[in-house]
Amino acid sequence: MKNFDIIIIGAGPNGLSAASYLSKSGKKVLVVEKNEKVGGLALYADSSSSLSKKVIDQLGLKINARKKRTFVTSLNDSFNHTVLEIDENNSIKFNECEASLEDQNSFLKLVKKYNLFAKTLSSFMFNTPPRVKSGNKSDLWQLISMGWKVRKLGKKNMRELLRVIGLNIADDLEDNLTNDNLMGILCNEAVLGSNLGPRSPGSILTLLYSNAINGSIFRNNNLDTEQIISSIEQSCHDRGVEFLKSSEVKKLLINNETVTGIEMNDQNIIESSTIISTLDPKTTYLNLIGADRLDTDLIRRVTNFRSKGNVAKVKIEFKNIIKIKNLDEKYIGSKFIYAPNIKYIEHAFNNNKYNNYSKKPCLEFYIDNKNISANLYYIPYLKNGSHDKKEIESNIQLILNNFIDNNELIKFEIDTPNEMEKKYNTSGGHWHHGDMEIDQLLMIRPFYGSAQYETPINGLYICGAGTHPGGGITGINAINASKQLLKK
Ligand SMILES: Cc1cc2nc3c(=O)[nH]c(=O)nc-3n(C[C@H](O)[C@H](O)[C@H](O)COP(=O)(O)OP(=O)(O)OC[C@H]3O[C@@H](n4cnc5c(N)ncnc54)[C@H](O)[C@@H]3O)c2cc1C
Repeated sequence: MKNFDIIIIGAGPNGLSAASYLSKSGKKVLVVEKNEKVGGLALYADSSSSLSKKVIDQLGLKINARKKRTFVTSLNDSFNHTVLEIDENNSIKFNECEASLEDQNSFLKLVKKYNLFAKTLSSFMFNTPPRVKSGNKSDLWQLISMGWKVRKLGKKNMRELLRVIGLNIADDLEDNLTNDNLMGILCNEAVLGSNLGPRSPGSILTLLYSNAINGSIFRNNNLDTEQIISSIEQSCHDRGVEFLKSSEVKKLLINNETVTGIEMNDQNIIESSTIISTLDPKTTYLNLIGADRLDTDLIRRVTNFRSKGNVAKVKIEFKNIIKIKNLDEKYIGSKFIYAPNIKYIEHAFNNNKYNNYSKKPCLEFYIDNKNISANLYYIPYLKNGSHDKKEIESNIQLILNNFIDNNELIKFEIDTPNEMEKKYNTSGGHWHHGDMEIDQLLMIRPFYGSAQYETPINGLYICGAGTHPGGGITGINAINASKQLLKK
């Protein structure tokens, strides 16, 4: 085997982005991926809005223009569906809506408020988080600058941000809106992929954070995921990155608290003094490094990191082209949401608390001719036992039959968080490699002592979704970590 400056474990969006960035900086990079196909969990995403212009520019990617406008359709049991049209500047227009004009205006005002707060948070995303209490001037300066950015919102807005940041989304929505469907749309964005229900404290923060990362509140997915992944992979090939696919890393080779290489499942050894793991923090620390090399306090922090996934991916094929009752065909390319009201979503979440799933789950899905690709929640990761997939299928069928005209389901496939864990080694099959809650964000993501993409093992870096700023097809973690590594 050749010598490589850097070995990257995992070819998800972060592994690929780190490889592209570091090879652009002249490093000789090898990417090792367990599966035959690159992309990692991003292969579950139908499309994405989270790859920012900044990342596209920094990686020099060639990606076709974003869609000019997208639709978000929230299905309603009374068939008065809400259709939002979102343009390329993220301006929202109601194309269909049963809510009063007053409610629609209140909705737009709320979105404006959330966008403003998300913009402030987004300014924290492109930096390595500061070390609290390090005594280092640059960390202190960064902390002051973060505080100043919040202060710059003005007294009124700053107070409002501090009021809502720990609040549950249901309270804020009920204070401002009366229409159930409008509340459901915003709840879906706040709780999808998290371990929170609409009434869980902190669900506004997850909404703001997701908005900050995705650059839009509705993740109105205007870029094709396959295109994103193949474009980053191509940039890696163009820059001479080498790939070892269908190859699983078994463990890291460590000598004197310093990484020296990787050992593969087939016993092969590849040496390098710099390794980046894009695996989730639990898998990196407990499986690749091994608990025997960690001190007790660190083991406690790793095991306390919450990463129970609860979103399943469902692919359904119908016999005929899909049509939605009482919906104009021009909206068939929408992102569809079935999360009709706060109570419905909260009930689905209640089951999740007890490792169970509701007979009435929530759905976010896309339609393509005869096919549906859906994110289904809450379907919890089960430590013991297995999911009753037949039951889940009939639960979804009951919901969809209500909205789909004259059709018949002919194929149903589901990947639960348990399957995601198995296929991608993601602990708990978690969308973000770990909950994005206040105690697992910014300078404490994944946990104290590992939040600057470094680890207690010299030469070992981490930059998967479990690091700052979290999950999504953003590549930001990778770029932040690469910059940190290049400083050394
Ligand atoms: C159902 C679902 C839907 C989603 N939808 C969206 C969406 O619409 N928009 C969005 O922005 N995000 C979405 N996400 C989230 C997004 O896909 C992830 O946050 C993102 O892929 C994380 O990227 P990553 O590179 O950090 O990790 P991963 O994508 O998890 O990549 C890690 C890679 O490491 C590989 N690997 C693991 N163990 C080993 C080993 N021992 N040796 C070698 N290789 C190994 C894995 O096979 C994988 O390819 C979704 C996630 C899920 C689960």
